[in-house]
Amino acid sequence: MAEHCARLCVVIPAFNEEQMIKKAFHTIHGILSEHQIGHSFLFVDDGSADQTWTEIESLAAEHSNVRGICFSRNFGKEAAIHAGLTEAEEFDCCVVIDCDLQHPPETIVEMFRLWEEGYEIIEGVKSKRSAEAAINSLGARTFYSLMSRASGIEMRSASDFKLLDRKAVLTLVNIREKDAFFRALSFWIGYRTTQIEYEVQERTAGQSKWSVKSLTKYAIRNLTSFTSLPLQFGTAAGGICLLAALILGIVSITRKCSGRIVGVTALISFLLLLIGGIILISMGVIGYYLAKVYDEVRQRPVYIISKRTEREHVEEIV
Ligand code: UDP
Ligand code: MG
Repeated sequence: MAEHCARLCVVIPAFNEEQMIKKAFHTIHGILSEHQIGHSFLFVDDGSADQTWTEIESLAAEHSNVRGICFSRNFGKEAAIHAGLTEAEEFDCCVVIDCDLQHPPETIVEMFRLWEEGYEIIEGVKSKRSAEAAINSLGARTFYSLMSRASGIEMRSASDFKLLDRKAVLTLVNIREKDAFFRALSFWIGYRTTQIEYEVQERTAGQSKWSVKSLTKYAIRNLTSFTSLPLQFGTAAGGICLLAALILGIVSITRKCSGRIVGVTALISFLLLLIGGIILISMGVIGYYLAKVYDEVRQRPVYIISKRTEREHVEEIV
């Protein structure tokens, strides 16, 4: 019955998850059906090298509420989420959940109830990180504290587990940014948002797809798409050099005035600092313009409208 009146689309990015596809489907399907929430599934195979696609195809053949799309190669989780949301535009709301069931599926029910109450974005917030390699956990902490500062959004406990109203889905899929960072963009777009805490579960099959290298790449990519601050390092370094040159200059002149000898080293250092400072500041200025160009090419919307008054109502006033 749930299959005919689907309002919710469960979007699942999957990369080499052959062991998890059916398990994820049966678990989530069971819970949602039990709570009489009309739902459909959309699996996105992110260019898996194993039997993930075969598993998705066989599920889709058995169940009318399962659809799948398959990438030509691995494009990454962000791309998979983007594709999933684009394909699921017609649903009233979408929930994005990992295939490995590390995001507890029962939470979807609570999220859906909040959506029914009128919330447009329900963010899943991690209450604790499950056992992860120490390096990843430390890496994750550093990355998220940098991200939180850069974007002005509390990112430390943010995750990709969230339920989005159709409005938010349409806004997100219309952001034509190639390096979109779903986790932060869903905060950035605004709308009526609430959070729900969940405990990250252990992975039951397969393994995490992230290596230290891929995590570092992911962190740099997302940091740079949310801040152009690194481009301003030149200005800061140039400022410090010029300040040092100024101090050195003043010290040398006072020494000279009080009749003491000013060494060649001091003079050379002064010149080096002065020239270095000017060059670095010039680079900072270039960086500033580059940041502006960067902001423009990302083509993020200038504003997002959440509601409008009814059309008839407007006409009445006119
Ligand atoms: N994933 C993906 N493409 C990738 C890497 C991961 O679609 O290139 C999917 C993966 O199949 C899973 C989710 O993203 O459904 C989370 O991945 P994983 O469990 O490896 O990440 P972790 O939980 O360790 O952060
Ligand atoms: Mg996982």
